[in-house]
Amino acid sequence: MIIIPDAIWSLMLREFQACQRPLEQVAYLDGLETDNDGIVTTVTFPNAVLRQGSFFVPAEAMSEAGRHLGKPLVRIAQVHTHPTAWVGHSPTDDERAYSRHDGAVSIILPNYGAALNLLSELGVHLCRGKTWRQLTSEQAKTFLKIVPSSLDFRPRIEPGPKTRPSFFRRLLRRFL
Ligand SMILES: [Zn+2]
Repeated sequence: MIIIPDAIWSLMLREFQACQRPLEQVAYLDGLETDNDGIVTTVTFPNAVLRQGSFFVPAEAMSEAGRHLGKPLVRIAQVHTHPTAWVGHSPTDDERAYSRHDGAVSIILPNYGAALNLLSELGVHLCRGKTWRQLTSEQAKTFLKIVPSSLDFRPRIEPGPKTRPSFFRRLLRRFL
């Protein structure tokens, strides 16, 4: 399971959506790994070459985007956008994914990441034995878990009564 704080998830979506041109975009989810789960703490945007129907991360951009990794941070997943609702892995996606080690995860957002409502709309791909396999939308829903980054149960604080006139004013008032 990959656990993603919602502030990180929405920051990533906002950055993807801020791009005014129709270009595929890419980011990495980095964080901590336990035996079975990945806990995302960081989203990394590499200096990638973005095109309408593909993206490419040159070697130097890849190493720049990985310099912060090392205990305790590891790369948990790659996220990239597709132009349409299709969230499968293209042959280029297979070859150029950030990693092809067992357990590597590649997430694809449809429609350049715009107006994503449901986790079931995205494609989640897992790598095993150098082969990428797409999870069913049911599996994807349990594989990605978005958790709140903050919770606020405080009551709304209404504006208080007007402040009392200063001592000096009260004094003046008494004599006028
Ligand atoms: Zn792709």
